[in-house]
Amino acid sequence: AREAALARSRGPGVTKDGTAVPLLANIGGPGDIAAAVAHGAEGVGLLRTEFLYLGRRDAPGVREQAEVYREVLAAFPGGRVVVRTLDAGADKPLGFLPSAEEANPALGMRGIRMFRHDPGVLADQLAALALAARNAPARLDAPARLDAPARLDAPARLDAPARPDAPARLEVMAPMVSSGADAAWFKALCAEAGLGEAGAMVEVPAAAVRAREIAEEVDFLSIGTNDLTQYAFAADRQVGALAGLQDPWQPALLDLVAMAADAAAGAGRPCGVCGEAAADPVLACVLVGLGATSLSMGAPALPAVRAALARHTVEQCRAAAAAARRARSAGEARMAARRHLPDLD
Ligand code: PEP
Ligand code: MG
Repeated sequence: AREAALARSRGPGVTKDGTAVPLLANIGGPGDIAAAVAHGAEGVGLLRTEFLYLGRRDAPGVREQAEVYREVLAAFPGGRVVVRTLDAGADKPLGFLPSAEEANPALGMRGIRMFRHDPGVLADQLAALALAARNAPARLDAPARLDAPARLDAPARLDAPARPDAPARLEVMAPMVSSGADAAWFKALCAEAGLGEAGAMVEVPAAAVRAREIAEEVDFLSIGTNDLTQYAFAADRQVGALAGLQDPWQPALLDLVAMAADAAAGAGRPCGVCGEAAADPVLACVLVGLGATSLSMGAPALPAVRAALARHTVEQCRAAAAAARRARSAGEARMAARRHLPDLD
């Protein structure tokens, strides 16, 4: 029965009035592929790549990494696979790249910052990704294309058939981008590696505030609400006692999301959300109302989010988002949003 329910709930993400909102999976390695496929993910919106690096004495080789990336690409022919480059830091230390001990690892040398002065490990990762993309299998031997159509998230026509004959499209994004300069540097490094689609995560508040200049440097933005909430409220993700401040329904967080999505739209770039906020069906509708063009989440959340979107129009999502932003607290925001989304379970 569970399988039947899952199968029924497959299909692309689309609002009641026909706007496509690709629904993608957050995965932490090839072991998560089966669940993503079973829950009907249209691709991967966040492949966390730390598993390749942690607990090792030597950096993984280019070929070894490429095999893993190829396996993920092969699972989503015709879909998208967004790979986040290594997001290590003092809390996730690398055996082969010793970092100084830091009193505040979340505020330290993590994500893209680690590589601005010595890009070696990151350059190898990009080389591995480019190698995997060149060899990504397609069901019908379609030529692999790194220079796939520029427009990401272009709303697929509802009646357009899935394209299992094409390989997955690889997109690469950097964590902890905090400026246009970071974004431009990453885009150039990707281009050097032969990767055509490079994006920036928006998870540092400064990146949301200045999202326009970041969006202009890259091909897409992806909002990481987990870290964006942590940094916006100066509330450590690991500290359970601060859970109230880590609530993505906080109107201040919704404002930051709106700021980033508006800036991306102004620059003509898609802007997805890949933090856990996207896994809440009510908040997912609000995120679409704020301008998110795709949503990525842990696979088990996909069916409920798919159902919530299918029952509401973009106009309703926008009204819910506006009401939530007028609220004075997370709890009020949620209640206000629900009033505009009558067809939730
Ligand atoms: C985020 O910060 O929201 C995110 C998606 O990345 P992670 O949870 O891996 O930091
Ligand atoms: Mg993050």
